[in-house]
Amino acid sequence: MLPSTASTNYISPATKSDSGELSSPPESALLHRCLSERPYQVSRAEGSYLYLSDGRKILDACGGAAVAIIGHGNKEVIAATTAQMNQVSYVHTMSYTTSSAEDLARSVLSPENCPSFDHGLVRAYFVGSGSEANDAAMKCARQYWYELGKGRTSRKVFVSRRGGYHGNTIGAMSISGNVARKKPYLETVLSNVAFVSPAFAYRFQQTEKGETEDMYAHCLVEEVEAEFLRLGPENVVMFSAETVVGATTGCVSAPRGYWRGIREVCDRYGILLHLDEIMCGTGRTGTYFAFEPEGIRPDIVTLGKGLGGGYVPIAAMLVSGKIIDVLRQGSSSFNHGHTYQAHPIACAAALAVQDVIRKEQLIEKCYRQGKRLGVLLRKEFGDSRFVGDIRGKGLFWALEFVEDKKSKQPFHAGMGFGISVQKQAFELGIAVYPGAGTVDGEKGDHILLAPPYNVTDEDLDNIVRILKRAYQMIERRVRGSIIDHKL
Ligand SMILES: *Cc1c(COP(=O)(O)O)cnc(C)c1O
Repeated sequence: MLPSTASTNYISPATKSDSGELSSPPESALLHRCLSERPYQVSRAEGSYLYLSDGRKILDACGGAAVAIIGHGNKEVIAATTAQMNQVSYVHTMSYTTSSAEDLARSVLSPENCPSFDHGLVRAYFVGSGSEANDAAMKCARQYWYELGKGRTSRKVFVSRRGGYHGNTIGAMSISGNVARKKPYLETVLSNVAFVSPAFAYRFQQTEKGETEDMYAHCLVEEVEAEFLRLGPENVVMFSAETVVGATTGCVSAPRGYWRGIREVCDRYGILLHLDEIMCGTGRTGTYFAFEPEGIRPDIVTLGKGLGGGYVPIAAMLVSGKIIDVLRQGSSSFNHGHTYQAHPIACAAALAVQDVIRKEQLIEKCYRQGKRLGVLLRKEFGDSRFVGDIRGKGLFWALEFVEDKKSKQPFHAGMGFGISVQKQAFELGIAVYPGAGTVDGEKGDHILLAPPYNVTDEDLDNIVRILKRAYQMIERRVRGSIIDHKL
């Protein structure tokens, strides 16, 4: 880790007790992510701002993990949620349904969300988290083959990509390529999973050898086909990938032609295509579905983070007519279920979030503000010594840090460059989302920006300006340590 000049640990500072004396907070009963550091306590959140219990005001430039798409404290969402609580707070989905769940499904699947073609998705299944949604996708896909084979199928292998993330439950973690999050569990994850290369041009397109974007895309698609053939296509359930990769590598879009190629290869062998849009979907990249501009029709899509905008825990699996028809003709059921699936309050809140997005045309706004953010970032960081790549789409942008721009050599893993920038930015009043292991799960780092779709021009300017200052402070410190090292 870099030597820090500011106090950058996460332990909440001493708080004032009622008598006005300073005292340390009591030991937490909550199992935090880290046992040695206590996260900041947030006492209030409104719009794009978080108010900490120590009196600080933080501009939330990442919405947690790209979650708070309409900002905090929206009155319409709060009203819809409390109204639902007064109406029906819970029913079991085995026997009952509610209008909030029905309406949310209709809203998410609405053709309005994919104006340029019929996406072919006909059913929505609501759960409490992205990981659950992806587990549901894995089970649904497997059941598709099971029903199609009247109870017999050789299809049991899931194919996904290195450098992608699909969640932390055993199923979703098994298809994830995020090395750090899997490490202690490597011997307990599913073994029927195969991985192919990420679609990550900045790192892996061999531009110096004359490889064009089209050639790179073609090469990746060929690799997927070769992997299907190696496994035996009759053994493969589904190919899963993030349409635009989020936390693991930082806002990485696939090269032009990649998705069409993947769709064709999946179709050639009848393999299902699952797009994980838990982070990049619900408008984040400037269209409701990140797959729309790619012009492909996935068989299963999962949504999460932005769906409830952070107001409630909710995620969705969306299923195409092709799969539903097979289930209908088979057992006529989806052999899966959760106590809290399609929870009425969660659905009511998420429905209100969808309504706000539509009424305030927030996806168009996200698209426009995204263009602006891209211009600002390129202007401020284009010449920065340690910023190797500036990439993104919609309000979903990342800066990848490197020690050497020409060779793209990352900083060594222990340096924590990205974390240092994030901590420094926080000290200066903005929250950004850091990521490490960008290159191969170990080396490389980036930070991710994902402000709310209704972010103002002024806030956007402030985010970039403050981030630049934070970056410069870390750059100066690192340059100093490189010189020290050489002496
Ligand atoms: C966050 C995320 C998940 C997991 O969602 P949880 O709600 O944390 O379980 C899955 N896939 C992607 C792409 C994500 O970003």
